Amino acid sequence: MNIEDFYDADERRPDLRKPFIVDGRTIASNGHILMSAALNKQYDGAGDEQAKRIRSILSGLDGKQFGPMPKITLPDPTECFICAGAGKSSKKDCEECVGEGDVYFYNGFNNYECECDSCGGDGFNYCQSTDEDCFKCRGEGVIYGWRDAPVVLGVKVNANYLRLIIDAPNLEVFADIEKKMLAFRSGDDYGLIMGLTS
Ligand SMILES: [Zn+2]
Ligand SMILES: [Zn+2]
Repeated sequence: MNIEDFYDADERRPDLRKPFIVDGRTIASNGHILMSAALNKQYDGAGDEQAKRIRSILSGLDGKQFGPMPKITLPDPTECFICAGAGKSSKKDCEECVGEGDVYFYNGFNNYECECDSCGGDGFNYCQSTDEDCFKCRGEGVIYGWRDAPVVLGVKVNANYLRLIIDAPNLEVFADIEKKMLAFRSGDDYGLIMGLTS
């Protein structure tokens, strides 16, 4: 398992855009998945609120009986629409609107502001001629849809998240059906995946 796979640099919540440290462990999360790994001092400590939230989430794993991961078959993935299957992509600021998302023009009477056609108002485009692993498929070239969610011990888990853990050595899991949560551990790494509600 790679902690780099458990957060999203484009996450809306700024405090989840990179891993952080809580109680001597490195934590990464995107709000749906969370992983705790050995201390990596390159990251900053979490703020008090954030640390409290993480402790409370992880306390749900205390004293739980983990067992071997049941055999599951992941569904067939589809080609990643961002990198077109190549596994490489990077975001670059849109040249037309210089990353603003809006373009301005002046017709002699008025100033206009309108959504940039080139990027659809996002302010960025995707570039496929890069060495960077595609952030969407994490370099795999394929992704799963949100409906691709095998049931593991009674919890429905999106295959995009399952594939992050499925090959980990000595993988053990614990399912909390009420909280719709699948906890996992492999060696010194552990964490959880929030399941789907329907
Ligand atoms: Zn991709
Ligand atoms: Zn643009």
